[in-house]
Amino acid sequence: MKRELERYLNISDLKKYCPGCSHPLVARAVAEALAQMGQPSEQVILVTDIGCCGLADHYFRTHTVHTLHGRSTAVASGIAWAQKKRFPGKAPKVLVFIGDGGATIGISHLIEAARTSAPICVILHNNFLYGMTGGQSSSSTPLGWVTRSTPAGNSYPPISFFNLLRESGATYLARIFPTDRRLPDVIQKALNCGGFACIEVPELCTAYAVKWNRLTMKKLEEEMKKMGWEPQEFFQERHSPAKISQKEIRLEEIEIIGQPAVSRAFCILIGGSAGQGVQWASRQIAESAIQHGYRVSLKSEIPITVGTGYSITELIFSPRDILYTGISQPDAVFITSLPGWNRLRPRLSNLHSSHIVVDMSISEEEIEVLRRNDNFIQREDFQKCRKIHPVLHAFQTLLSSHRLFPSASGNVEQENGIRN
Ligand code: SF4
Repeated sequence: MKRELERYLNISDLKKYCPGCSHPLVARAVAEALAQMGQPSEQVILVTDIGCCGLADHYFRTHTVHTLHGRSTAVASGIAWAQKKRFPGKAPKVLVFIGDGGATIGISHLIEAARTSAPICVILHNNFLYGMTGGQSSSSTPLGWVTRSTPAGNSYPPISFFNLLRESGATYLARIFPTDRRLPDVIQKALNCGGFACIEVPELCTAYAVKWNRLTMKKLEEEMKKMGWEPQEFFQERHSPAKISQKEIRLEEIEIIGQPAVSRAFCILIGGSAGQGVQWASRQIAESAIQHGYRVSLKSEIPITVGTGYSITELIFSPRDILYTGISQPDAVFITSLPGWNRLRPRLSNLHSSHIVVDMSISEEEIEVLRRNDNFIQREDFQKCRKIHPVLHAFQTLLSSHRLFPSASGNVEQENGIRN
């Protein structure tokens, strides 16, 4: 048997835990369960975080991922969903080793994993305090227990992770002592339940909990009974997210109908207001540019109150990959409202742009700054011309003087003042 277990776990490493600590019993039971299932070790992913139980990722001979304190469940859920999608029917088993400290810190991750039926098996090593960091109390410390942070005894009622996860929709739950011989069978059930499973193992931390509370495994069992936290199992059928029809996110293909007409990046800054359709129009222009064979970058800026204030976009078309998406010298600027002008004004003082379209609401005095380089400036009364889409209209004026989008094929270089 030892040889079988060694396929998953370096058993001699378990001696590194404090004498009497329950963690080695649990690690061994996990290896036994995997061996009984005949699960290939390369088909097992163990995700851990901070805490003595998390040291096990050095001891297991499976894939292991060590995460931040309390985050193992969230990382494992992501891994499990991705593997399930990538290898339907053949996804590796994803296990989490978390302590009650990690569970306290990452409680929302556990709740979400149970609620969304993440296909993972969480082994919750509950020794009722933070062992690795010196024995501070956790959310599951029983009333009256002495810990590093409660030297006179814990006065806060503990949370039952079991009850919490049952209410959150876990598929399979078990509470079982590490000395119980059925532990490997329970782990197998959890690994095969098809949804979110959590096994809470009440453990002894000999370094702290035992020393300060004169515990033995028998006394721990009595304590659990007193709290109503006896060993038990719970199973509930869950809707598999796969069975609920979900709208697939489909990427739309854009048909390429032309070739770029300029040989360098062309940059446009657009400043307007909420309600002017600046973001929508910019996307239309971006899609057209893609149709004409350009690489395109589109960045947006809006205030937190999306329904009011400025609406800014930055568009770059390039015949080559766009490695930097910032714009310091735009080739064209469209200002379709005062809020857009006010937002972009600091960026427009030293402009060499060739094509500028500005709303009439910006005073002559204000736009004087744009005239320094003999730029082409067209003024429009966008507020009055309600039938014209401000951004598309401004873009039309640009197209009338710059051959950006010739629809014919062929290597058409720009001819109208675009610097190469
Ligand atoms: S500190 Fe506690 S939990 Fe950590 S290895 Fe020692 S006994 Fe186990």
